[in-house]
Amino acid sequence: MDAPASLDFATLPLSAALKQGVEAAGYAQPTPIQAQSLPAILAGRDVLAQAPTGSGKTAAFALGLLQRLDPALIRAQALVLCPTRELADQVGAHIRRLAVAIPNLKVSVLCGGTPLAPQLASLQAHDPQVVVGTPGRVQELLHKKVLHLGGVRTVVLDEADRMLDMGFEEPIREIVGKTPKERQTLLFSATWPESIRAMAAAMLRDPLEVGVEGVAHAPEIEQRFFEVDPARKQPALAALLLELSAESCVVFCNTRRDADEVAESLRHFGFTALALHGDMEQRDREEALLRFANRSCQVLVASDVAARGLDVEDLALVANYELPSDPDVYQHRIGRTGRAGRSGLAISLVSSRELPRAKIIEERAGQPLRWLRTPTATPKANAAAPARMVTLRIDAGKTDKLRPGDILGALTGDAGLPASAIGKIAIFATRSYVAIERALAGKALARLNEGRIKGRSFRVRKI
Ligand code: AMP
Repeated sequence: MDAPASLDFATLPLSAALKQGVEAAGYAQPTPIQAQSLPAILAGRDVLAQAPTGSGKTAAFALGLLQRLDPALIRAQALVLCPTRELADQVGAHIRRLAVAIPNLKVSVLCGGTPLAPQLASLQAHDPQVVVGTPGRVQELLHKKVLHLGGVRTVVLDEADRMLDMGFEEPIREIVGKTPKERQTLLFSATWPESIRAMAAAMLRDPLEVGVEGVAHAPEIEQRFFEVDPARKQPALAALLLELSAESCVVFCNTRRDADEVAESLRHFGFTALALHGDMEQRDREEALLRFANRSCQVLVASDVAARGLDVEDLALVANYELPSDPDVYQHRIGRTGRAGRSGLAISLVSSRELPRAKIIEERAGQPLRWLRTPTATPKANAAAPARMVTLRIDAGKTDKLRPGDILGALTGDAGLPASAIGKIAIFATRSYVAIERALAGKALARLNEGRIKGRSFRVRKI
């Protein structure tokens, strides 16, 4: 079913509160996936959508589940399952953003890797209307009988392919089996392996299938290819990044080892670069994502799975250190740039061994790839300027009742820093992070360590 080209948010049967939410989010026009899926979603139909990150899929299902929800009923009415905690956090935040005009709505994010006790306490206090979680933790809470899914009207399986890759099939089946049969089910997946078809056949009823073609993003994303000798890839990557001087770039690697080595090599050339992969501790991954988002890391060198947690609005550049063997993965990677209408650039370093992969990508694209000349000179050590910001970690957080204003106050007050030098502040349970302009970071660190925040002294370190 093709949506009429003129479809806009005003003509969709959204409640007044949700129209306000859309306006507050600043969405002028539905994205193609929203235009194709929202009429069916709002009509209560099951939907199976091929939708990569960046397509606007989150808002599509968030609006659907919020529309069907009765805020006066205090019980779980919508359930969204996501593969990772990072994605669940983002989806939870996105739903809350679109629900600004719905009073008294409780959205709970229930994920593994975080302590169980506060989640238990929160669920026992009163039921959330919207549950967003990872399958493992949701299953655990079901077994503890603190989560009740008998009143669920909408089930969303987000990034279903990735959930299956991560071995969540069994918990998903059990969880969905606990929801009423007459529910609406929405399944989103970037790729279409047979296992997804089988799951859809088991869980969805007469779904509308909407597909954003694999190349739907191509016009907005410029793709450049470089043939590079494997031994020359590290200096060639540094030279290309220097030439493009993007403030934020994600470099994708196929292996964790490459991710570590490439990050190390980029640091040698002066970039503030961090690796991000599944072998890292949760906290190190969180810190890498946070530093990337607050501009104190320019280059994130990531494996595909770890990069799932990434949500950066204006990522201008994506680089493939090596082409993936699956063209869907390539499409997914480059879809991280050029989001929601912005233009983006994707560069790929290709060794002769990877040429068959490039061929497949070319066939998919239906047009010749653009091959450009590879830089041959090796940049000097420290040729790149480091990131604009530096992150300080304060060993205090929500449990110390610390709020962003307290940190801002300590820095602009006692420490005498201009507010313009202070970037994003993030508060976790027992630690907080603040980004400071590089030139003033030393001063900020010294002052925070000498002085007090909220009348107490906490340990502060540069990370
Ligand atoms: P997603 O595919 O859900 O990860 O969304 C990608 C990005 O597009 C998010 O940053 C959304 O805030 C943004 N977005 C979603 N819908 C729209 C829209 N209709 N117009 C502009 N931006 C949008």
